Amino acid sequence: MEVQGKAVTTLLGGLEAGGTKFNCAIAAGPNEIRERASFPTTTPEKTLGQVIEFFQAGAQRHGPMSALGIASFGPVDLNPHSKQYGYITTTPKSGWSNTNLAGQLKEALSIPVAFDTDVNGAALGEHLCGAATDVKNFVYVTIGTGIGAGVMVDGKLVNGAMHPEIGHMLMPQDRQRDPYPGHCPFHGNCLEGLACGPAIKDRWGLRGQSMDNKHPAWDLQAEYLAIMCVNLTSCYSPERIILGGGVMEQTHLFERIYHKFLSLAGGYFPQVSRHNIRSFIVPPKLAGRSGEVGSLRMAQALL
Ligand code: ZN
Repeated sequence: MEVQGKAVTTLLGGLEAGGTKFNCAIAAGPNEIRERASFPTTTPEKTLGQVIEFFQAGAQRHGPMSALGIASFGPVDLNPHSKQYGYITTTPKSGWSNTNLAGQLKEALSIPVAFDTDVNGAALGEHLCGAATDVKNFVYVTIGTGIGAGVMVDGKLVNGAMHPEIGHMLMPQDRQRDPYPGHCPFHGNCLEGLACGPAIKDRWGLRGQSMDNKHPAWDLQAEYLAIMCVNLTSCYSPERIILGGGVMEQTHLFERIYHKFLSLAGGYFPQVSRHNIRSFIVPPKLAGRSGEVGSLRMAQALL
């Protein structure tokens, strides 16, 4: 665009608000990044102060931003009619319960703000230019410090009364084989309680990165994730399931999950077979950038 001889680019802000760090980006589009910064998630005052300072100083360097997209850890309030819209609500993350994340940034930066869950942001990113560009029905799951998922049905992200909390689905557990009581403070042995990164460390006394491929942890882990995939397939009828997050950097898990999924599914789902399972359950394509791309897309959609 050209205004009185001067080129004008619409700039966007993207914020991936995670439980360990807040990743910020200023960009002309999801693939035209001008500047990035990352701040550790400490207290809301300190972290949000750093984020606001980055975006304000960035606007001086690159020009004003037109909108900000926030993809946040949760649980969050996504109901635009709620008094707590844009808040992080009942998180176990110390100091962050009832934090008005979207409101504080909107007020400090004086621009429109789009707000969604971190996993919805990542799902949107993968849909835009990652592992789900060719489908409108898919689930993006991240398995790391916690387990969360963004669900897209018919091209729209599913939120509903709150937003899906895939990590807290209840799981069958063979207590003879796995006596571990689970890591979730709310449910014990829900999916997240049994299969998030800290549960692996807690159960085996070792971090996943320190275990070799033959460790019995992986067979159990693959089984829980295969059960999750069968449940997701039963509930949402996805065309694809993307499995990301730190735990899935153990790429040998995929073959184990394929094998167990096919066995557990018992041939019931016509859309999945041994011939196409490698394109049905896949890793993300944006390698850690899905949340950034998604948050920028959310900002763009406001304009
Ligand atoms: Zn739980």
